[in-house]
Amino acid sequence: MAFFGEKIMSIAVYPGSFDPITRGHLNIIRRSASVFDELLVCVMVNSGKNPLFSPEERVELIERTVRRYPNVKVESSRQLLVEYMKERGAKVIIKGLRAVSDFDREFQIALINRKLDEGIETLFMPSSERYTYLSSTAVKEMARYGADLETFVPMEIIGDVLRKVESEGWITK
Ligand code: ADP
Repeated sequence: MAFFGEKIMSIAVYPGSFDPITRGHLNIIRRSASVFDELLVCVMVNSGKNPLFSPEERVELIERTVRRYPNVKVESSRQLLVEYMKERGAKVIIKGLRAVSDFDREFQIALINRKLDEGIETLFMPSSERYTYLSSTAVKEMARYGADLETFVPMEIIGDVLRKVESEGWITK
């Protein structure tokens, strides 16, 4: 907990690659933001994946879709997650769980983060059943084939995803 004057603020972090943000991510953001005083959505840069969007672009795309939530901030970090959290005074990590298949990996990461910092708790939030099938990888795959992205990514960023996939020569005709 971080002290802000008299009040104790509960700050949670929602980390991920968000390449790009999907409606599934946005659902977790909305629900977590209603539970904590402040939610930091953090684009983690050290994942070793080959991303479509740069970290700066991913931050901007998320910012555009979370404008309506005043207690949500978006940042990116190249640090170890627990170090980033220490600097921000955050104690809680939010992880969205789509299926049991997410659980093994996320459970291991949660234990490692607790070994690194005993004061950190990971909270798992079940995905809305509408979005359990959805991942950024699936979105990129669908964009390559020119599929309609409306049910998968927030309206505000559909054009950006299609343009990016095209400019990177990822389109499959
Ligand atoms: P992706 O697998 O889509 O590339 P990220 O690495 O960006 O996801 O995921 C960040 C976090 O969001 C993780 O906790 C992941 O489990 C969660 N998440 C991803 N997609 C969904 C979804 N459709 N519903 C709920 N949580 C999700």
